Amino acid sequence: MIDLRSDTLTRPTEAMRQAMARAEVGDDVYGEDPTVRRLEERVADLFGHEAALFTPTGSMANVLAVRSLVRPGQEVLCEAGAHIARAELGAHGAFTGLTMRTWIHPRGQLDLPAIRRLFAPDMGPFFVATAAISIENTHNFAGGAVQPLAELRDLREFATGVGTGVHLDGARIWNAHVATGVSLRDYGAVADVLAVCLSKGLGAPVGSLMVGGADAVAEARVHRKRMGGGMRQVGILAAAGLHALDHHVERLADDHAHARLLAEAVGVDPATVETNIVVWERADAAAVVAAAADAGVRIATVGPTTLRLVTHLDVTRDDAERAAAVLAGL
Ligand SMILES: *Cc1c(COP(=O)(O)O)cnc(C)c1O
Repeated sequence: MIDLRSDTLTRPTEAMRQAMARAEVGDDVYGEDPTVRRLEERVADLFGHEAALFTPTGSMANVLAVRSLVRPGQEVLCEAGAHIARAELGAHGAFTGLTMRTWIHPRGQLDLPAIRRLFAPDMGPFFVATAAISIENTHNFAGGAVQPLAELRDLREFATGVGTGVHLDGARIWNAHVATGVSLRDYGAVADVLAVCLSKGLGAPVGSLMVGGADAVAEARVHRKRMGGGMRQVGILAAAGLHALDHHVERLADDHAHARLLAEAVGVDPATVETNIVVWERADAAAVVAAAADAGVRIATVGPTTLRLVTHLDVTRDDAERAAAVLAGL
């Protein structure tokens, strides 16, 4: 089986398992796991922020990050297809007590004119107050689309001018970095807080980080424990993340090439495939999933007529070519 359902499906490589087995550990709730500390310091530095916090999932990193900007009863603005709005099962409403209003963009891009129209930090006692703007880079459900740096900087300037916070869901920021050559530090500079994942294309089995200012991260550390996310000798997992940062970032370019190859095979314009995700519209989506599975290729639906193909560490060039041949015939 060639599995293109998600880049979360990767299994740790032998070398990663070795790194995990050798990890120096301590009790991280006591702040005594040296490997976790090393990962947190390294990731904070990569993005040019003061601090970072290791979390079991990207969803928890997002909840903690957004929560650092938005109080209960306030709102965050985001794109309608954002992971925080669609795929975290209402966590931000359920745990933080915030509301969301959305703009719609077919490529999941930030739309500053739309944001300006929605933005309402202080409309008196009858309207919810906007406290933050959230963007996603790359945008998952828009097919791994990259947010242009110039627009991110315009948003930063707007947000600073009006005194509101910016959250960046960077689950796949590594893919944006490799696809564009924009530094992680330049991406980090546009946001007050970020969430980044090690368990997607980077191939770690578990782990994400919230990244931001020292105070925000210290408060998030308390809230992480409250949510049941205080983990103990978790350096064993942080070691996988450190290994991924050393060995699995630059190779994301291969995943991007494989995704373009798949796009071409199924008739999606490869120019619209900037990173490792292909969104393929088919009226008969469910039937295509079944036929592909019969032919040894697993793909997923992300809407009634929308299929998603995701390339990753465990999909070789040969796999991508074989999958392309299967899917082209469906
Ligand atoms: C996967 C993902 C997350 C976090 O997902 P978890 O499964 O909770 O780790 C957040 N944002 C985006 C855009 C994602 O694709």
